[in-house]
This record gives sequence, C-alpha cells and structure tokens, in this order.
Amino acid sequence: MFDLEDDYPKEECGVIGVFAPNEDVARMTFFGLFALQHRGQEAAGIAVADRRTMSIHKGVGLVSQVFTPPVMASLNGHYAIGHTRYSTTGSSSERNAQPFMIETIHGPLALAHNGNLVNSAELRDELMRQGVGLSSSSDTEVMTMMLARNGGVTWEERIKHAMQKWIGAYSLVILTRDSVYAVRDPWGFRPLCIGLLPSGGHAVASETGALQTLGCEAIRDVKPGEIVALSNNALTVTQALPSVAPAAMCVFEHIYFARPDQVWDGIGVHKVRQRLGEELAREVGNGFADVVIPVPDSSVPAAIGFSHVSGIPYNDGFIKNRYVGRTFIEPTDSLRKRGVALKFNVINENVRGKRVVMIDDSIVRGNTTGPLIKLLRNAGAKEVHVAITCPPIAHPCFMGVDMGKHADLIAHKRTVDEICHFVGADSLYYLSLDGMMRAVGRQDGFCQACFTGNYPIQVNVDTVKTGFEQSLK
Ligand code: SF4
Repeated sequence: MFDLEDDYPKEECGVIGVFAPNEDVARMTFFGLFALQHRGQEAAGIAVADRRTMSIHKGVGLVSQVFTPPVMASLNGHYAIGHTRYSTTGSSSERNAQPFMIETIHGPLALAHNGNLVNSAELRDELMRQGVGLSSSSDTEVMTMMLARNGGVTWEERIKHAMQKWIGAYSLVILTRDSVYAVRDPWGFRPLCIGLLPSGGHAVASETGALQTLGCEAIRDVKPGEIVALSNNALTVTQALPSVAPAAMCVFEHIYFARPDQVWDGIGVHKVRQRLGEELAREVGNGFADVVIPVPDSSVPAAIGFSHVSGIPYNDGFIKNRYVGRTFIEPTDSLRKRGVALKFNVINENVRGKRVVMIDDSIVRGNTTGPLIKLLRNAGAKEVHVAITCPPIAHPCFMGVDMGKHADLIAHKRTVDEICHFVGADSLYYLSLDGMMRAVGRQDGFCQACFTGNYPIQVNVDTVKTGFEQSLK
C-alpha cells in the first residue's frame, strides 16, 4: 500500500452511537461515519440491534465502499454503533475492523473503540490464561471479551468492573440488545460528545461535526470516567470511576486531528487553530517573508491567524488532491518518485519570485516537508521559510495516535537547526509549548506527552506497544 499521508500523525479511530426509536439508525450512523472519515480511512463498520437481535457489517475501505444499498437494507433496529478505523495493511485490517461483536450469556454485545490501552498485553495474557481464544491483535477484542466474562447484574456493572482494569485511552460505544452505552476513560484522552436528535433520541460521536450532520443539538461531552446509557429516550449517567485531575485531553486533537468544526469541552477547534497561527506570528516576528501559505487543509486557519498578526499577506500556494491518500494501488517507480507531487500542485504565480513562509501543523518523520519545500522552489519561490504550529514532536504516543517510535521521529535526536537543514528550508520555527497552550486557552487538562515526554499515565516506553504496533502483529 502506498501512503501519501505518511508524514502526518494518524488518528486511530472515530466512533458513533445512535438511539432513535422509529428511525433508520443504520442510515443515520452511516452518514455520521462520513463526518468521521478523516479519523480513519481503512475500515468501517456498523452494528445494529432491535431489542431482540443484533446484526453487523464491517469491511476494509472507506465508508462509501464498505456500505452498499443492499447492506444498508439488511441493518435494521433502534440502536446502532459505528466505527471508522485507521490501521496498517492487508489482512490485519480485516481482522481488526470494528465493531467487535460476540454472543454472551447476557445477550449479544458489540463494541467500538477510539484509543489504546497501555496494559493491553497483560490483560491479553490474563484472558488467554483463562482459556479465552482471541482472533485479532486488537485491544478492542480484549475489552469485548472482558465485558463478556465480567460478573454483574447489569451491563453498567460489567462495564464499571472492566474499567477498573483498563489503563489508557478509551472512548467507547457499546451496543447491547436494547441499549447504547458511551464510555470515556478517567483521563479523558479522546473526545466523545453527546447530542439530542430532533426526534428525541440521542447520539454520541467522537466529534460534534458528526452530531451536527444528524441534526443534533450538541448537549455535552461524556465526562472522564462516565458511562452514559442512551436507552429509553433518556440519558442515564453513571460516574463509574473518579475523573483524574488534571485531565489529559489530547492536545493534538486541536492541532491536527479534529475537523475544524469540532467543539470539545467548550473549545472550538477552528478558533484554536487561528490562535495557534497568531501565537506563532508573535513568536516569529515579521518582515522575513512576502506571502503566507498553508499546507492544506488543517493549516489553513493557522495561516490566516499568522497573516493577521504578522501583516504578511495570505494566499493559497498548494492545491491538494483530496481523493489521493492511502491507496491500495501501488504506483509505478516513476510515479513513486514524484511522491508528494502526486498529492499537491503549486499555484506558481502565487509563489514565483517571493519569500514564502509555509505554515504546517507538525513534522513527524520529516519526509513530507522537504518535498513540499522543493515543490515551492521548483515553482520559483525565492526563499522558503517553514513555521510549525506546535513544538517539535520528540516522543511517541501510546494513547491512540500513530506517530511511530522514538527512532522514527525526526525531532527525537535532532536540533531545530539540524531539522531545518534536513528538510532544506531557509529557516524553521516551531511554536513554543507556552504559545500552544495560550492558543488552546488553558494551561491544564491536556496531554502534551509527544512534546514533553511526560506521560500522564505510567508507560514503559521500551515495552508498551502503540495501537499501530499492536495491529501489526
Ligand atoms: S502523546 Fe500527543 S498525540 Fe498522544 S494523547 Fe498525548 S498529546 Fe495526544
């Protein structure tokens, strides 16, 4: 598989759950998944329950490829959950596609997960010692099996019991015969938002944009440590574990992952991205460039903010082909050499003869920035300066984001000057940690571990596997 998004961190999933009596919940979930497609483009799945039975369909590909009209017609019920997944390659994608669905002594159960458990290996061993067979390498299957085995009269009790053993990031949607549950880890790593449907039912989703697609009025976030049940046209809230203080919401959701229309814990992502650009301009100064251009799409609001504060005019420099991302069709050698040029075209007249400052949200491995700079130089840019809207990423993520390992990260053992030289920029600036948090609007309550190496939970960086590594098995 050829990956033209290779140098950007990969979010490992988007989830959605819907309870809507008398409505086509599978179709609603399908449209909600479209709004979450950016959180995972390799596999998608929907499970539906009608108080008696549960049905599921999942597969490898984009939401539009996995769900055909006959498939949609076979998914009937009042309760549904859905998932979009980013993972690795080939058969592992098929095996690890979600939701996971099993039959239990308490009835059918399906689960979809955004995040990564850092103690998944121990939990996996424990289950296998108890004689439980597992069919995939995913921590989500481990979580599903734990729920099936747990004692307790209600699903809330079983979920609560399992949460006491789960360490790491989990925003979950769980489907039973007659309920949808939304569950968030006590650190609050990944988002999960609740909305009220016009019909009176409820939906939960990784992002408010998906709720908006369904016509929901966004109500509130699932709070860290909560189990929220969406049955009987009402919400039943259980604080299963005390929330950890301060919380550890992933700051990278604001920088890159979330769609700009996402509002998380009262903070609008688009506004934050504009402020990231403004803070960056305050730190970098002005007068060194003639035009500000974004690397589309996620850097557009930041470039506008940068231009606003620096006074350097904003213009489009790149046109991105949105239909080329990860592709299962390997290009020929000559096309492969064109690399990012397959995805980005330059508007020559906007950069020719100019000193350009290119705004981007992150540099992970460093293998995209250099080719983008080269495209600008080939188009006649006189100088190319690069400004990044976060600090250097020097540490891997174990909480549900694929950034690679220490050795993969260009900033792990290199100075900013060395990175600048490596990518071939005339100068390179990173936003400071303080500047980033000023843009977010709060100093506390966010995980910043990929910048600082201070993980909010104890992680043995030599042994714990990221979700990406787990799915490689
Ligand atoms: S390490 Fe970085 S990407 Fe991972 S949860 Fe923390 S802030 Fe987000």
